[in-house]
Amino acid sequence: MEKQNRLGKLVVISGFSGVGKGTVVKRMISDFEHYALSVSMTTRKPREGEIHGVHYFFVSDEVFEKMIEDGGFLEHAGYVGHYYGTPKAYVDENRSNGIDVILEIEVQGALQIKELFPEAVLIFITTPSAREMEKRLVGRKTESQEQITGRFVRAREEAEHMKEYDYVVVNDDLDDCVRLMEEIILTEPGGPSYDPVFKDQFVKELEEIIAERTGGSSE
Ligand code: 5GP
Repeated sequence: MEKQNRLGKLVVISGFSGVGKGTVVKRMISDFEHYALSVSMTTRKPREGEIHGVHYFFVSDEVFEKMIEDGGFLEHAGYVGHYYGTPKAYVDENRSNGIDVILEIEVQGALQIKELFPEAVLIFITTPSAREMEKRLVGRKTESQEQITGRFVRAREEAEHMKEYDYVVVNDDLDDCVRLMEEIILTEPGGPSYDPVFKDQFVKELEEIIAERTGGSSE
C-alpha cells in the first residue's frame, strides 16, 4: 500500500468468548485493504490449526516476562490463566504508514489502550444473547468444560465494562456485522450504542448459565 501522511487509526475490538470476533476480524481484513491485524503474543498453548506468527506468537512465560521488562508491549493482560499482549513495533510501523490497525484484545487491554490513545475506536462485539454465546462456545469444542465455565465467569466481569466502549455491535448476521463495523470505523458517528437493558438481560442469563455449570453457585 502507498505511503500516506495520515496516521492510521487504532481500532480495538473486544467481545465475549465465542462471539465470533476472530471471524469478523478476518472478514474485515479480507474485505477492505486499509486494515492490518496485530498478531498478539500469548503464553497459552496453540489450538489445533493455529499457526505461530499467524494467529499468535506462542511463547513461554519467561519470554513474555522479558518482553514486558523490555517495554515491548503496547498493552498486556492476564486472561483465564495466561498472558496476552500486543507487540508495540508492528502497530507503530503500520499506523505511521497510514494503515488502520485492528487489535482483537480483551477488556483490560482495551482500557489500557484507551488511556494511552484516547482517539482509539473501541468496539465491543456481543452475541444476541448469552444462551446463543453458550451454543457457540460449547459447539466449537476447543476448550474443556472447566475452561468454558471460566470463560462465562470472565464474560460476567466483562459485561460490566461494555459501557466503556465507544460502540457495542451485535453479531447476529456476519455480513451485516462486518458492514456496520466498517461504517462505524470510517465515520465514527458517536452517540450511545450501549443499551443497559440488553446488558442486564445478558448478565441475568450468564448468571443462570454459570449456576447451571457450577451446580448452583454463580460465585
Ligand atoms: P483466545 O485464547 O480465545 O484466543 O483469547 C482469549 C482472549 O484474549 C480474547 O478475549 C482475546 O481477544 C484476548 N486477546 C488476544 N490477544 C490479546 C492481546 O494481545 N492483549 C489482550 N489484552 N488480550 C488479548
